[in-house]
Amino acid sequence: MQTSKITTSSGKIKNLEETRVEEFKANFSGPLLTHVDEDYDEVRKIWNGMHDKKPAFIARCSGVADVIAAVNFARENEILSSVRGGGHNVAGTASNDGGIMIDLSLMKGIKVDAENRTVDAQGGCTMADLDRETQVFGLVAPSGVVSTTGIAGLTLGGGIGWLRKKHGLSIDNLLSVDMVTAEGKAIHANENQNADLFWAVRGGGGNFGIVTSFEYRLHPVGPMVTLCAPFYPAEEAKKILSVWKEFMDNSPDEVSSNFTIWTIPPVPDFPSEHHGRRVLIPVAVHCGPVEQGEKVLEPLRNISTPLVDLSGPIPWTAMQKMFDPFFPKNEQHYYFKSTYLNNLDDETIDAIIPKASNPPQPMILIAIWHIGGAMSRIDDRATAFTGRKSNYLFSVDCIWDDPGADEEVISYARNFLKDMEPFSPGGLYVNFSGFGEEGEALVKSAYGDSYEKLVKMKRKYDPENIFRMNQNIKP
Ligand SMILES: Cc1cc2nc3c(=O)[nH]c(=O)nc-3n(C[C@H](O)[C@H](O)[C@H](O)COP(=O)(O)OP(=O)(O)OC[C@H]3O[C@@H](n4cnc5c(N)ncnc54)[C@H](O)[C@@H]3O)c2cc1C
Repeated sequence: MQTSKITTSSGKIKNLEETRVEEFKANFSGPLLTHVDEDYDEVRKIWNGMHDKKPAFIARCSGVADVIAAVNFARENEILSSVRGGGHNVAGTASNDGGIMIDLSLMKGIKVDAENRTVDAQGGCTMADLDRETQVFGLVAPSGVVSTTGIAGLTLGGGIGWLRKKHGLSIDNLLSVDMVTAEGKAIHANENQNADLFWAVRGGGGNFGIVTSFEYRLHPVGPMVTLCAPFYPAEEAKKILSVWKEFMDNSPDEVSSNFTIWTIPPVPDFPSEHHGRRVLIPVAVHCGPVEQGEKVLEPLRNISTPLVDLSGPIPWTAMQKMFDPFFPKNEQHYYFKSTYLNNLDDETIDAIIPKASNPPQPMILIAIWHIGGAMSRIDDRATAFTGRKSNYLFSVDCIWDDPGADEEVISYARNFLKDMEPFSPGGLYVNFSGFGEEGEALVKSAYGDSYEKLVKMKRKYDPENIFRMNQNIKP
């Protein structure tokens, strides 16, 4: 009898009878790829080039029925499964070795209801897909800052972007989800229907089922917004950070900002004399009228003399794509890890500057995400996301291409975050959690007081932990 070797959900290797695969194929309408298919190697790629995983099956779902068939196939045959939306998660949880990748990236249907300002978007959409369709009507669903990111993983972890102060996180604008459960049932969840599940998916990640469609509330934004992006020399860090802090403490909700410490890359967009220079960029976006935006953001552009200044009015969709070229698919190694900070006083700034100014690889980016406005006015217990009451999300975003540097870079990020512990109330953002290498301790730290409630939800909706390739909440 013909068989294929597969990895089970408990990590064992077993033989799967070919007839089981044939039955599944007969009930699956999208492409079902294995290593013999020509496009297998291209399709299995995920964003982080550090992961070279080879699933036994890539089930490229074309709709809800396919997702149900794939979940049933995985569960009934105890096959290790992972779910891919945009494939961005740096931990590589979208893929696996020897199991089934349930791939939603072909499911990109989007329907905007302009009158009611809502949108339904399928689980394979990227932020760019969503912005493109909603901007037809001058509307936006709050998402993140790199447009190639999948809306699924982004939203399920929280979704923090350029509209967080004015309109909150992605989950704060989520009205409902369509999901396929571990039992292979299609269900709907919102504030009134399966409300416990709706609470859990707003921050609890991919632990509870596969979201086939997200319904978001939309807001009028654009077509033009105002960008503030002066590049100051790293040597002036203390002054620039202190002024930025003061500015953000008093800024209107229209302004969301990430203080970024970066290296000017050797590309023609930047003057060659500054290539390789470590810089500070108080990147800010004003989402209101452009004339107002330019006036409001002006003080951030005059803190000192910028080496480069990219500030000015910019189309919303271009803003969302601005950083895309620096985060290419599968070509670079990525390791992003975060913690929350309460203050940016002198002591905290002194702890940040030396390490941020001298990273082991040039493209390592240090981001200090200001938290405030709409996202922090929501009660911490209203969703599973934690961190609304901190003032900053501090993230060490490592990007490099030399595999020989893996160990040094990852140790740098871990040590940096360790150094920041005295300044942190604890916790981290699950979407920036490295490889989740601390296991349960990391998940507990990320969810704090909500952890026990999430465990209860996991027991209810996925007691066998079918959905385990994620920042896993163990049932
Ligand atoms: C370059 C870059 C920029 C980023 N910028 C931001 C940002 O600005 N703001 C922000 O908040 N985050 C940001 N992130 C983090 C990002 O939100 C997470 O990596 C997120 O997991 C990506 O979602 P995805 O669908 O692309 O990921 P995938 O790797 O496809 O999925 C990640 C996990 O999400 C779950 N999942 C995916 N799809 C589904 C689904 N349909 N149903 C149920 N579970 C699912 C699975 O558990 C999967 O393992 C960024 C990441 C990168 C690499």
